Amino acid sequence: MDPAPAPPPPFAVHLVSGGSSSPELPLLLQSLAAARVVALDAEWKPRRRGASAPGPVDGASPALPNPPLFPTVTVLQLACRGEEGCSEVFVVDLLAVPLADLWAPLRQLFERPDALKLGFRFKQDLVYLSATFTAALGSDSRFDRVEAFLDVTNVYYYLMGHDRQKRLPKETKSLATICEELLNVSLSKELQCSDWSCRPLSEGQIQYAASDAYYLLDIFDLFHQKVRTEEKCVSTMETSDQHCPQRAIECSSSGYVICSDDYLTSIITKYSDRILLAESDTKARSSRRKQKQKLSTDAKCKEKFDCNTEWQGPPPWDPSVGGDGYPKFLCDVMIEGLAKHLRCVGIDAATPSCKKPQPRELLNQAYKEGRILLTRDIKLLKYQYLATNQVYKVKGLLKHDQLAEVIDTFQLKISEDRLMSRCTKCNGSFIQKPLTLEEAMEASKGFQVIPSCLFNRNLEFWKCTDCNQLYWEGTQYHNAVQKFMSVCNIGE
Ligand SMILES: [Zn+2]
Repeated sequence: MDPAPAPPPPFAVHLVSGGSSSPELPLLLQSLAAARVVALDAEWKPRRRGASAPGPVDGASPALPNPPLFPTVTVLQLACRGEEGCSEVFVVDLLAVPLADLWAPLRQLFERPDALKLGFRFKQDLVYLSATFTAALGSDSRFDRVEAFLDVTNVYYYLMGHDRQKRLPKETKSLATICEELLNVSLSKELQCSDWSCRPLSEGQIQYAASDAYYLLDIFDLFHQKVRTEEKCVSTMETSDQHCPQRAIECSSSGYVICSDDYLTSIITKYSDRILLAESDTKARSSRRKQKQKLSTDAKCKEKFDCNTEWQGPPPWDPSVGGDGYPKFLCDVMIEGLAKHLRCVGIDAATPSCKKPQPRELLNQAYKEGRILLTRDIKLLKYQYLATNQVYKVKGLLKHDQLAEVIDTFQLKISEDRLMSRCTKCNGSFIQKPLTLEEAMEASKGFQVIPSCLFNRNLEFWKCTDCNQLYWEGTQYHNAVQKFMSVCNIGE
């Protein structure tokens, strides 16, 4: 049952589920053409793991046979704000609306430089959306760019007063958290993983989908206000040498509508970004090549990096010499979080054998154990005695971004059965067969406490063969699996 959305959202929702003869589609197209700010979001059917327990030990079960490349987007949400400042939210049922009627207007919207597009980590949505349209209409019907794009995560950090030059905080905030902190609105998360391919969509799903897009507009309002206030104050101080609070108050409380001024244009120029999909983004990872190109053209990577920090050579691991066909990594102390994330997707990722390793010690360990050193320390790249391709500088700041970056750069094809197949604590492998509760209780004696709430739940337990740590599918488990499936682009 859907939980009642409370309080009632401050916007009207149009469900678009027919072709051009229905009233909603023309209305949508009209709004898109007139909009100055459009918030975007998409939903697709979530992929769930089967009832089976955590992935078996590496190599014990066959990789999935060619899963479809990307999930099909079944719902697209667009919240438009027009010249008048009024908002309209459209929930577009992509299973019902003829995609041919939608493709050109959408592409036009995405590429219009005077219409600001807002999204929350929208690149993945764009990849899936593009795949959905090309699957239905042919390869010419892809989307390969969004111009004048603003990511709400960046807006959030700006609003929280984060210095743009500084390292971003470790945690990636969810949209729900961002909405709660900035707007004091709580988005229900319960429908996030509901079946978005089921029809008819429930009222709860429609409202949920609509609010995900709508609140991006509200967040943008805050941003717009803050930018405007700050810049006005700066310019006032510059000209009169006097701080002028009145101007600031005027612009932060006048309740102006965000689109009625040319100010939007300057915001687009100053703050917006582009999402470019390279050819490689739209292919299965297994067939990805020339990842270097993608990294260097990806406009989202705005930081400037020394070209020498890019991965230069062929994969340094050789499947013919055994191993599981994946590179092994050594994560420098600064990125131990990445090591845990890599383990979560089944990749062998060690950490330094001593607490404060010298560069030479790190490189020795990498060399001895046949690992690629992952680091954020650019100094490590300077060592002359370094073998080629032994070290890679991680650019991402957040663990999830770092994981995606490593997967991309090293062209790792992560199949579902690799998820949660390694001990996150010590990098060890799991036993071949799960333990029953009784066996787990025995194994945990004097070592680990198994919460009594698990006793009646018929769970399987997995033991690390190295450190004996026990694992089971706790409440966080399924959330984590979902997250990693999306980071790894694991198909349905
Ligand atoms: Zn372990």
